[in-house]
Amino acid sequence: MCLICDEIKNNEFKLYEDEEIVVFLAKWGVKGLTIVTTKQHYTILEQVPEEVFGKCLFMANKVAGLVFQVLNCQGTNVLINNGDGANQEFAHFMIQVVPRFEGDNLALDWERKPADNEQLKDVAIKLQEQIKESEKKEELKQKQEEPRETKPETKSENTKDDRDNKNKSEKTNEEQENKEKSKKGKIPRWLIRIP
Ligand SMILES: [Zn+2]
Repeated sequence: MCLICDEIKNNEFKLYEDEEIVVFLAKWGVKGLTIVTTKQHYTILEQVPEEVFGKCLFMANKVAGLVFQVLNCQGTNVLINNGDGANQEFAHFMIQVVPRFEGDNLALDWERKPADNEQLKDVAIKLQEQIKESEKKEELKQKQEEPRETKPETKSENTKDDRDNKNKSEKTNEEQENKEKSKKGKIPRWLIRIP
C-alpha cells in the first residue's frame, strides 16, 4: 500500500481534513514538516484536478504561516517534488511545507550559473510549439464539451465598411472569448515571445 495513503488513514497528527485533501505532520524529515496532500491517490501533479490543487496550495500557504509563527523558524520552503527525477520519494502527490532554521544544513540550495541565450531561445521556441499544441487540444475538448450555437448568417453587401466592421466585431469576439477562457482558468493567456 502507498505510504501516504496509509498516513492519510492513520496519522495521529492531522491538522485538517475534508473530502478532498488532508494536512498532517510528517513523521520523517525535520521538526514541523507538514504535508498537504490529496485523499485520492494521484501519482504526480499533472493528475490532480485544478480545483483540488488550488485547495492544496491555499492550505499550504496557511500552514506555512502557522508553522512560521509557532516554530519561530526563519522561513519555509514550500516544495512539490514532481517525478522520480525530482527526488519524489513517494508516488503520491503532495506539497511539503518545510520549516527552515538557521544552520539546519538542509541541502535545498544549488549553484546558479548564468543562462545561455541560445539555450533559452531554444527552450522558448519548444515551449511555444507545445503551447500551440496543447491549446489546440484544449479548444477541441471545450468544443466537444459545450457545442456552440450556430449564428444565422446575415446577408449583406460586402462593402469595405461592412468588412471593416465585421473584422472589428470578430476581433472583439475573440478578445471576449479569451477573457472568458482565462476567467475559467482553462486556457491561460500565454505571453511567451521569441526574440
Ligand atoms: Zn497514495
